[in-house]
Amino acid sequence: MVKLKILNFFYLIVVFAFHADAQILYGKNNYISYSIGKLPIVVSIPHDGILRPNQIPDRTCNNPTTVRDVYVYDLATQLDSALERITGCKPHVIMCHLNRTKLDANRNLIDAACGNSEAETAWHEFHHFIDTAFSLVQNKWPSGGLYIDLHGHGHPIQRLEIGYLLTKEELSSTDSLLNTEEYISKSSIQRLVNRNINQLSHAALLRGNFAFGSLMSNAGFPSVPSSQDPSPDTTDYFNGGYNLVYHSSLNPNIFLDGIQIETNYNNLRNNYLNRKKFGDSLAKVIVEFIDYHYGVNLQNCKIINSSKIEEKAINHYYSITDDNIIKITELNFDEYKIKVFDTQLHHIPFSILDRNHIQISTQLPAGIYFLQLQSKNQTKTIKMNKI
Ligand SMILES: [Zn+2]
Repeated sequence: MVKLKILNFFYLIVVFAFHADAQILYGKNNYISYSIGKLPIVVSIPHDGILRPNQIPDRTCNNPTTVRDVYVYDLATQLDSALERITGCKPHVIMCHLNRTKLDANRNLIDAACGNSEAETAWHEFHHFIDTAFSLVQNKWPSGGLYIDLHGHGHPIQRLEIGYLLTKEELSSTDSLLNTEEYISKSSIQRLVNRNINQLSHAALLRGNFAFGSLMSNAGFPSVPSSQDPSPDTTDYFNGGYNLVYHSSLNPNIFLDGIQIETNYNNLRNNYLNRKKFGDSLAKVIVEFIDYHYGVNLQNCKIINSSKIEEKAINHYYSITDDNIIKITELNFDEYKIKVFDTQLHHIPFSILDRNHIQISTQLPAGIYFLQLQSKNQTKTIKMNKI
């Protein structure tokens, strides 16, 4: 308890700074940064820091690994830009700027900081920022979200290793074994297994056609596990570390599902163009994954935060009646694809009654809703009130 009080003191002196559009928080001595986002996506980079302050001795306790995951911060920067381009919103990004010789932010406190108090403070800040990002996501996105701990591996097979905390022996099991409660209870995407909107099994989420690894493989980045490469079997594979254990729905009290992505070097981290290509592909796959499994269309984040939304809330023709009907006079339904969604971007089912009316299929509570009309040439989004 005493320790907690000391920590709170450190958090109080965290510095606020504004960089362009992003709001970035820094910990003490700028060792840890947190770029606050709006998407239900949290990315952490524990191993690409370059700072080696003299006052923190090099880690020597418990045979530490000190190799840096080079260019992974660049991957996260590319991902951040691509997500903003696609959705109009940023992810939450937490970065450890201390070199791994000084702090390993993906280990327990003792192994991470080897007893140095300055490194310990940075370790607490790193995890506190992840917790903060999780609570912001939880408040805004009731359907959940995705945490990604991003790394680089030096294994000979050039592929992404997607970690779900399941060992390679466990991934060598049959689908039916992976679908048992015993295996699901070891998974970092436990919440998604119980709530995914298509009711896919654990095995299907790990290596079916719409698994994260399968989508990345389809985008040109071979991955394990995936439908193309279902199990690492006896080859080198990282299945997830400290961060995934403590910041994923492995713990039923944690709201976000988590995956660890270990990136290969050749054709991915080795030059700027490949890093940009990877960031673009990863952003598209994350958006597709969240849309398909969580039922949340993040592309609407841009629309909801855009000034182009037509404010017709007070217009009779664009409000939702007590009978849950939207009346539209100026449009021809044949020319438009229609979507209705709420402020959480959940799609709301409806049927078309006639050329001027659509009937919402569920009883909506009072609030703000959006009607999106998409033709070949334009997308029009109209804000509506249900009183
Ligand atoms: Zn790493």
